[in-house]
Amino acid sequence: MAETLSALPTPPPAPVERRHVPAVVVGWVQAGPLDETQNAALMRARAMVREALRAALPGFKWSFPLVRRTDLYAGGQEVEPVDLLDAGATERRVAGWDFALVATGADLRARFRPFTLATPSQALDVAALSLARLDPGARHPDLSDAERTERFAHRLAALALHAFGHLNGLDHETHEDAVMYPPRSPADLDRSSLSFTEPNRTEIEAEVADVADLRMEEETVFDQLGDAAFALKALVLNWNDVADTVLQIRPWRFPFQLSKLTTAAISTLIVLVMTAEAWDLGARQPLWHVAWLAVVAVAGTSAYLVRKQGLLARRHGQTRTEQQVVQSASILLALGLGMSTTWALLFGATLVLRLLFFDGAILDGWAASLGRSVGPDEVLAFAGFVSSLGIGVGALGASFEDQTYFRHVAYVDEET
Ligand SMILES: [Zn+2]
Repeated sequence: MAETLSALPTPPPAPVERRHVPAVVVGWVQAGPLDETQNAALMRARAMVREALRAALPGFKWSFPLVRRTDLYAGGQEVEPVDLLDAGATERRVAGWDFALVATGADLRARFRPFTLATPSQALDVAALSLARLDPGARHPDLSDAERTERFAHRLAALALHAFGHLNGLDHETHEDAVMYPPRSPADLDRSSLSFTEPNRTEIEAEVADVADLRMEEETVFDQLGDAAFALKALVLNWNDVADTVLQIRPWRFPFQLSKLTTAAISTLIVLVMTAEAWDLGARQPLWHVAWLAVVAVAGTSAYLVRKQGLLARRHGQTRTEQQVVQSASILLALGLGMSTTWALLFGATLVLRLLFFDGAILDGWAASLGRSVGPDEVLAFAGFVSSLGIGVGALGASFEDQTYFRHVAYVDEET
């Protein structure tokens, strides 16, 4: 942490040992072929992003290597954002970059909006950007070649900076010329000033300083740690990164976006709520019993889905890294929160159904083995019991969810 020496009355002599300027590497990956105009725009945009970041954060040594993966996807067709994110994550890991921006000439497949220009993923530190809709020449054929390239590049640079802001945990702003203003159409990007507001700048600076810090795997002190100790240490050092990433994933959306999960869970709930034996069994469970059942159900279903949906597919022979630990922890925690949200929804739904349709006389008859009338504690126990069974069956349903779609929901922070 840097200290503000100027605030002290008598500044101590400057330390002899001088730290080198921290380096930040933002790699660009060209995914698939680009035509001449797109290529010119990409080169110009890369220069604009470089200027913008160097001007905003001069305390770092920035570099922006470019890798051309023309073998990846043919232009013109729709591509899955998660495929591009995966490609970017691989390049980032192999080359040791801090962030990766994957640019494609193809359109990105949007799941929740009519179209998407970019899909940042803070969990992977990668963003996919599409040039397909950015060309101003499509709407303004009278533009000269130079103007066209310049505006095209401006849009792409604005989009790249917006995505870079999200990779560093920034939220949206309301001013139309702000980098973090959410563009509703490519033309909105024309208004971007390409410079971050002061609060945004400070936030990125703190975030990037953290990233540029020496990584644990580069420090020999941590070499002799076992895998578990390494992971624990990495978590202690990066817990706020984990929290930040989970917030960007917004796991409370999961039950609303994973329809197979929700359908299976709600079907189970309805069947159980209408069954006398289920009431009989559920209502007699002690509350602490139900509490640990819920914890086991949430943890078990999360781990099951992470595995089944290949969310943590660890590449063969990969060395352990601090970033890997943070990513895995974030995804696991996000899944856990998503399943908890589903559990809470089922729990609430059971209580509502009880209030609306079930009077005491029916329940007393159904839970006959209880030997007393069904009170609030028994209803809570029943609701917790069936909610835990519900998310168990829900997880089985979610395992049939298309893997690409599931990864899209888990990894893509927003469809810009
Ligand atoms: Zn955004």
